[in-house]
Amino acid sequence: MKINPNYNSPEALLELYNKPLLELVFEAATVHRQFHDPREVQMSSLLSIKTGGCPEDCGYCPQAARYHTDVEAHKLMSVDTVIEQAKNAKANGSSRLCMGAAWREVRDNKDFDSVVEMVQAVNDLDMEVCCTLGMLNEHQAQRLKNAGLFAYNHNLDSSREFYGDVISTREYEDRLNTIDNARKAGISVCSGGIIGMGEAIEDRVGLLWSYMQMETPPESIPINALVAVEGTPLEDQKPIEQWEMIRMVATTRIAFPESVVRLSAGRTKMSMEAQGMCFMAGAGSIFAGDKLLTTPNPDFNEDKEMFNILGLIPKEAFAGSEKPVSMPDPLIEERKKRELEREDELKNARQEALKNGFEPRKITVS
Ligand code: SF4
Repeated sequence: MKINPNYNSPEALLELYNKPLLELVFEAATVHRQFHDPREVQMSSLLSIKTGGCPEDCGYCPQAARYHTDVEAHKLMSVDTVIEQAKNAKANGSSRLCMGAAWREVRDNKDFDSVVEMVQAVNDLDMEVCCTLGMLNEHQAQRLKNAGLFAYNHNLDSSREFYGDVISTREYEDRLNTIDNARKAGISVCSGGIIGMGEAIEDRVGLLWSYMQMETPPESIPINALVAVEGTPLEDQKPIEQWEMIRMVATTRIAFPESVVRLSAGRTKMSMEAQGMCFMAGAGSIFAGDKLLTTPNPDFNEDKEMFNILGLIPKEAFAGSEKPVSMPDPLIEERKKRELEREDELKNARQEALKNGFEPRKITVS
């Protein structure tokens, strides 16, 4: 049951969201137990592989170049650094690595080749690999799929109606197209939203309604609470109440019984008790590690303690699904072949020149 037929309209979702809190949590916990092991919670790590300098204008994002925030722009991380970070995340219990690049869209260039290599390398570590790289076309999605990408993240953020209040540089439709492209390539979809941006309750359920209208809803739905960052247009938004997060998690759980609901940004503002209520209400994953791209997050040790106290166990990678196979990427193979050929040509030319009595000019610096 990918969507719950009992709540298949915006009105029904709104009524569900507004149920007395404990009844809502009880219903969510019941659905959760039918489709998932309630003790299992996946620990995922989110790594910013290319930080800042983004041309988009998402009102919540400190990585947008146009906002004056403390985030320093960095170029793409090396493949070796990503592997090191992935090994560290895995040693600390993470079974999924989400790599985020602050790009408007994927471009077919050397940086994207490197991301393809990162996907291959992290998949080889037996971790689920997820990427969030902005908009992508079908061909790019196919390359990521062949590299062994498990999931592609592209959030709708909020309802279609509220979306334009927060982002103007790309349309809701563009986001839906990217999700479609990932789907067509056979990649599982991770897509969710942010609450606390000034939206109405109708917009929260409007987000869920957008997913309900998809032929296949996302397999993974992250629910974030806004982390209001100084310098962004949403810097003055008041933090949401913890019970709002619990409500949103519970409503999402009931609406999409098979999907993994991910308790994502904003956990530093939540008590362990409130997070416990979210797990009770069906959250099946957290992001672990002290950074969520650029915003703070509880560190590994704090989460380990919480898991011990609540009796949770970290969920293994690929539970209930198959590990993707990483295949060689023809474009990268071709580029590497050309580079080797060029190196050989240069070496041969050098040897030929020396054979013909060519003596390199000696330069003396006085
Ligand atoms: S959320 Fe993504 S696309 Fe939007 S400004 Fe931030 S990095 Fe750019």
